[in-house]
Amino acid sequence: MTTVGYVSTRGGGAPVSAAEALLAGIAPDGGLYVPRDIATLPENLFREARSIADVGARVLPRWLGGALSADETADVTHDALNFAVPLVPLGEPWEAVYVLELFHGPTLSFKDFGARTMARLMSRLLPAEERLTILVATSGDTGSAVADGFAGQPNIDVVLLYPKGQVSSVQERQLIARRPGVRTFAVRGTFDDCQRLVKEAFASPDLRELRLSSANSINIGRLLPQMLYYLEATRVGAFDAPPVFCVPSGNLGNLTAGILAHLSGMPARGFVAAHNANDFFPRFLSEGDESYRQSVRTYSNAMDVGVPSNFERLRVLLDPGAMRTLVTGECVTDDETLQSMRRVYDEVGYVTDPHTAVGLEAVRRHRREFGRAPVVVLSTAHPAKFPDVVERALGFEPAVPSTLTRLLTAEVDAIEIAPGLDDLARHLQDR
Ligand SMILES: *Cc1c(COP(=O)(O)O)cnc(C)c1O
Repeated sequence: MTTVGYVSTRGGGAPVSAAEALLAGIAPDGGLYVPRDIATLPENLFREARSIADVGARVLPRWLGGALSADETADVTHDALNFAVPLVPLGEPWEAVYVLELFHGPTLSFKDFGARTMARLMSRLLPAEERLTILVATSGDTGSAVADGFAGQPNIDVVLLYPKGQVSSVQERQLIARRPGVRTFAVRGTFDDCQRLVKEAFASPDLRELRLSSANSINIGRLLPQMLYYLEATRVGAFDAPPVFCVPSGNLGNLTAGILAHLSGMPARGFVAAHNANDFFPRFLSEGDESYRQSVRTYSNAMDVGVPSNFERLRVLLDPGAMRTLVTGECVTDDETLQSMRRVYDEVGYVTDPHTAVGLEAVRRHRREFGRAPVVVLSTAHPAKFPDVVERALGFEPAVPSTLTRLLTAEVDAIEIAPGLDDLARHLQDR
């Protein structure tokens, strides 16, 4: 078995262990950690594994380099990945197109996979007697997945910052639900203010004793578990030809995880990076243009990213030629997103959220090029998280699953603060 070390995308410093990479979140030179070597998949994985948790128990130890035993890793994956991952064939006229529903976790987005697994890994990798505080700025799905994922981990506290009044009402209820070990702050400002506060907090000597860490997708600990649902789809699909994976993308963490899985041996004909009007990556793929633009707001708001942080990782994992061969980029406007939701509903009666609809439209445009290859569209969120957009597209609100009803009626707890470090620091210090 190879032992994987992790190096910074910016080339600084010696390789570190998986534990160091996970607990630090970001490399000292400001780069992101990437594996120096790729761990190959276990032989017969797809024939022998019995569930996604089992896939994780067999695959993750290779990437963790002996930091946890096989049994400990199995405990983590079985505890974290305890919900369904259906692979749904859409049927005619979407023959050979499957939707991989990644929204059956507690907060109804694919971010539950990475957040829940990473929380349990970090809790076990943290040396005894040490405590960690995860500080996250969120505009949507990340915050609730991280809060849920880390809640109740004995040695880790969570602090969430979100812009008051700037997230959807469902998202807000999910963020402020009271959870053990989690404190939520409603910042009187924008998402950018929240991100700036996080940076200032990390740099502040006054807050050093809190030992702050991050749980955004800059942390490699989120990406490693995200490989597992690609592998699970491969196992369950038992495809007779390598599939195309279509990934609704923003920060490119999800796509990077799929590419890591492919580099480690998972068959794939290619990937589609499906973006909304925030078109940085498709522009890079088609024109080699690397200029960043301000993000714009869309219906698929979890993909409203002007500067995708994981691009830095993709650049290191693949040279531009290989990237263009493997990945097709596509952009979908808001109007086209609504049309896509309507089309899929009219054709096969399937209700999708706006992010998945971006993916389905990208697939519709490119399907001919894929020949007979099966296509797996990653469905990143439950439609019930976006009732307004579903209503606008289809004329009715989506059915609400019981996990969400429970969250929406849970006790809430949030503190409103000014968008400055003083206010935040005061709350964090007196506890
Ligand atoms: C976060 C998110 C995305 C984008 O994923 P990246 O890994 O940032 O590319 C897409 N859809 C939903 C619903 C999300 O929450």
